[in-house]
Amino acid sequence: MATIFSKIIAGEIPSYKVAEDENYYAFLDINPLAKGHTLVVPKKEVDYIFDLDDETLAGMNVFAKGVAHKIRSYSGCKKVAMVVLGLEVPHAHIHLIPMNSEKDVDFGAEKLKLSPEEFAQIAQAISEAK
Ligand code: AMP
Repeated sequence: MATIFSKIIAGEIPSYKVAEDENYYAFLDINPLAKGHTLVVPKKEVDYIFDLDDETLAGMNVFAKGVAHKIRSYSGCKKVAMVVLGLEVPHAHIHLIPMNSEKDVDFGAEKLKLSPEEFAQIAQAISEAK
């Protein structure tokens, strides 16, 4: 059965898209730690990131780099954290999280509640950022 992320990539489930190319898709995490918290996923459905073939893994990092530059430009944060963790969705993904302090990357912290309009505005701003 397709993962929720494959359904998002296929457009069967809506998402707030930030970037896409032939092999990768980036969209806002629906339970964000910060405005601009983004997930990067390979279109190839593989559960564990280190089971990806070398080319896909390397390309995913390069794609994430481009997205991270856009997030930083949008948010004005000091750096963008890149985190791989979680067991919830069996589809490899990288979390990109704007950060000004290490405390900003606490997955135990309460998530932001944003309206659909706010999500849409953030996704658009990131996608248009350089
Ligand atoms: P984890 O596997 O623990 O990294 O969790 C998966 C991440 O995907 C969590 O941060 C969720 O908030 C996020 N997530 C799950 N479903 C969706 C969705 N439909 N749209 C955006 N983000 C999602």
